[in-house]
Amino acid sequence: MYKNSIFVDDYRHKGLRKKLIETLKSKGIRNEAILNAFQHVPRHFFLDKAFEEMAYKDQPFPIGFSQTISQPYTVAYQTQLLDVKKRDKILEIGTGSGFQSCILSHLGARVYTIERQEGLYHKTNKLLEKLGFGAVKTYLKDGFKGLPVFAPFDKILITAAPDELPYDLIDQLKIGGIMVLPKGNLQVQKMLLLTKTSETSYKIEEKESALFVPMLSGIANHQSDSNY
Ligand code: SAH
Repeated sequence: MYKNSIFVDDYRHKGLRKKLIETLKSKGIRNEAILNAFQHVPRHFFLDKAFEEMAYKDQPFPIGFSQTISQPYTVAYQTQLLDVKKRDKILEIGTGSGFQSCILSHLGARVYTIERQEGLYHKTNKLLEKLGFGAVKTYLKDGFKGLPVFAPFDKILITAAPDELPYDLIDQLKIGGIMVLPKGNLQVQKMLLLTKTSETSYKIEEKESALFVPMLSGIANHQSDSNY
C-alpha cells in the first residue's frame, strides 16, 4: 500500500499501534473494522519525523499552520458514530493531516475532504498521494459551503467546531444520511449525531463533550501560521 520507501513502518511502530488499539478498546471503541484500520494506517506517517514518538500516544498533536491532528480516540469515536459502510460517499470538513480521511478510505468509503488552510492543503494532498491514498479527493475550499456539485452525500463528518448548525451542509446530506459534528465555542462543545429524516427535517442526538479547533469561514493562507 505504501509506495514510497522513505516511509518506514517497523515492528516497533506496529507494537505501539497494538497498544494504542488496546487503549481505544478500553475507552469503548468496539467496532473491529475501525480498530483494524488503526492497525493498518500508520499514524506516524502523518506527523513530522521528529515527533514520531508522539504518534501512538492517545493525544492530539500540532501539525503546523496552527492546526492539530485529532486525538486517536476522537478519530475512532467520530468514525464509530458515522457508522461507515463500504462505498459510502463521505464528505469530511477539515482535512488537516489527512489521517482521518485515510481511516475512512481504508474502511472502503469514497472520501471527499475539504481544507481551508492553503499550505496544509498542499502538504496533505502530496502526502496522501505518496501513501497510496490518491483515491481520497481533496479540495481547498470553505467547508461551510460543502461540495454541492458532488452532493448528496451518505455521511458528512466535521472535524472542526462550528458554533451554529451548518445548514448548507445539511442540505447536501441524503435523506437517511448522518452528520457527525462537534458544535460549540472554545469553552463548551458537544458532539452531535444528526440524522436527516426528510428533505426538510432532521433529528439530533447529543453525545460526549468535545474539544476541536473552531470551524472558520473563508480560505486562509497565513505564512506566519506555518511554524509550530
Ligand atoms: N481531520 C483532521 C483534523 C484536523 S483539525 C485530521 O485527521 O488531522 C481541523 C481542520 O479543520 C484544520 O486543519 C482547519 O484548518 C480545518 N478547518 C477549519 N474550518 C474549516 C472550514 N470552514 N473548511 C475547511 N476546513 C476547515
